[in-house]
Amino acid sequence: MDKKELFRKLPSVDEVLSKDEIKNTLNFYPRSIVLETIREVIELNRRKIINSNKYLDINIESIVNDVIYKVKLKYSLSLKKVINGTGIVIHTNLGRSLVSEQIKDDLFSIATRYSNLEYDIENGERGSRYTHLTDIIKRLTGAEDVLVVNNNASAVLLSLNTLAKEKEVIVSRGELVEVGGSFRIPSIMELSGAKLNEVGSTNKTHLKDYEESINENTGAIMKVHTSNYKILGFTESVEVDKLSNLSKKYNVPLIEDLGSGVFIDLSKYGLSYEPTVLDSLKNGVDIVTFSGDKLLGGVQAGIIVGKKEYIQKMKKNQLTRALRVDKLTICALEATLRMYLYEENAIKNIPTLRMLTYSIQELEKKAVGLYDKIKDLKDFDIKISDSKSQVGGGSMPLEFIDSKVIEIIPKKISVSSLEKKLRLSKSHIIGRIKDEKYILDVRTIFEDEFDLIYEELKRCLS
Ligand SMILES: *Cc1c(COP(=O)(O)O)cnc(C)c1O
Repeated sequence: MDKKELFRKLPSVDEVLSKDEIKNTLNFYPRSIVLETIREVIELNRRKIINSNKYLDINIESIVNDVIYKVKLKYSLSLKKVINGTGIVIHTNLGRSLVSEQIKDDLFSIATRYSNLEYDIENGERGSRYTHLTDIIKRLTGAEDVLVVNNNASAVLLSLNTLAKEKEVIVSRGELVEVGGSFRIPSIMELSGAKLNEVGSTNKTHLKDYEESINENTGAIMKVHTSNYKILGFTESVEVDKLSNLSKKYNVPLIEDLGSGVFIDLSKYGLSYEPTVLDSLKNGVDIVTFSGDKLLGGVQAGIIVGKKEYIQKMKKNQLTRALRVDKLTICALEATLRMYLYEENAIKNIPTLRMLTYSIQELEKKAVGLYDKIKDLKDFDIKISDSKSQVGGGSMPLEFIDSKVIEIIPKKISVSSLEKKLRLSKSHIIGRIKDEKYILDVRTIFEDEFDLIYEELKRCLS
């Protein structure tokens, strides 16, 4: 192969720029990005010529196509939609909870128009952003007062900083939780200025362990829901009603970090029991904190409910300003929480709850729907099979729910290459590999994504 010949075929930047398709691209994408990409693609081809001993086809048309493809890729948003084929409903890496499509008009209008975010319409004066969520959360939980901050980690930080700065907080050694590597009770405690006073042992903590540790410097007693692990066997922990009696006896606040936080007893729907926010308040917890986007199925937020005197103090804490929520959060959360006014409505319309409570018949129907779309694709062995899905988000760690999956075995490429191609495809399909099969769990796949899966599978082989 004559390399000189090939180098001569390489177009100049100006030649590529003069092509109609590229001129058209300049109408939609910044000139600097187009120019930079042309240089990159030409350079890439130059290297190919230098390094290859095989026959190369250098032509301006394919260079133009590459430039356009790469410009689009570069200019696309970094945060993009993906298809979740893992079956993990509260998938921390894939955006945790999804909001209902029913609230899109509300969200869109608040995002694109002015609102009464901090304006009291009735009296024509300055208002507070925190009032919008107060009524609905009070109604749903029976709490005296409410404060919503950026996430549950900040809810815990703010509670500890407000109630127990420079004081001790008593926590059981069995509840020194770590969540996702970046949130640890001891570290958050330190950051808040409170001193951790750990009591009991990893597997057993008794009421007297708490009582014996109370002293004049105790700022709070804290209970942490071990949402992402379970200690089994020879164990004992103290229920919140008993801790509540203790906290009243010594007049120190009782804080509970519920983690996930649910309003509905999910055991009615075949899942394991998770303590509800209502139960905690009823059992006498003074301050309960929980996430907006775990089992609750809203958006990232930390919800603090409980005694008015404590929450009023938090509202005055300067930290609150640093942890405050955006109007889009307030809007999405209020619209989602409203669905909880009718339990049936919540289960049906909040995607997290909907996906967790599918019947096996519904999953079977979904699986057949996807199977029918893709079954005729040649070069794949495809079948429906039984499997288990996980709740995710560090919730219900021992729960494996029966599910239906599509198993795909590619005949011409390896399973790992299929996984990679689908992940990198335009639709970004995220599945898993098990026993040399590619697995898509239909629980977390939407029916309107079936066509995309068909298209991308087809493209994998071309
Ligand atoms: C998830 C979790 C947190 C952190 O909540 P984020 O909303 O992710 O900040 C804190 N505590 C517990 C027990 C949790 O499960």
